[in-house]
Amino acid sequence: MLQQTRVAQGTPYFLSFTTVFPTVFDLANASEEQVLKLWQGLGYYSRARNLHKTAQTVAHEMGGIFPDNYDDLLKLKGVGEYTAAAIASFSYNEAVPVVDGNVFRVLSRYFDLETDIAQASAKKEFAALASELMPKDNPAQFNQAIMEFGALQCVPKSPNCSICVFNNSSIRDMLQRKKWETDKTV
Ligand code: SF4
Repeated sequence: MLQQTRVAQGTPYFLSFTTVFPTVFDLANASEEQVLKLWQGLGYYSRARNLHKTAQTVAHEMGGIFPDNYDDLLKLKGVGEYTAAAIASFSYNEAVPVVDGNVFRVLSRYFDLETDIAQASAKKEFAALASELMPKDNPAQFNQAIMEFGALQCVPKSPNCSICVFNNSSIRDMLQRKKWETDKTV
């Protein structure tokens, strides 16, 4: 529900859905028309169709038991690597890294990586790095912390590095060196 959607915008829809369809069986047994009607105004209607289809799969093929690991979550319609990693780590404490735009930014700045994130191989590289850093006994907290850090502190434009916990002398030296090198070329 929150793909490309702010929490404030999605919350009323989440509340309506959970009121009208309190269990996965209620959602699975609803008609597509009912589901789309409740979704009206939220856009990206394929999400509603995928949610409905997944509810049917879980209700009718899995006995109402939601998959509890990354590989099985990936088999659900509409669930990609990002969503599967988020659910598996937040809900089941599985050590799989969540790699979104915030994570790309934090890691590339902190480690001074030049990798172009548009490249197909970039995701693999950042996922491997995040995996290496992740404490295996607390993947949920690590994933949520790095995503939140990117969203609130290490923001895309003009982050306030002067108050950043990672702004230690070695990082500062590196940034200053980079700035000096850039200044030299202009
Ligand atoms: S020092 Fe600045 S660039 Fe580095 S992690 Fe902190 S906010 Fe991001």
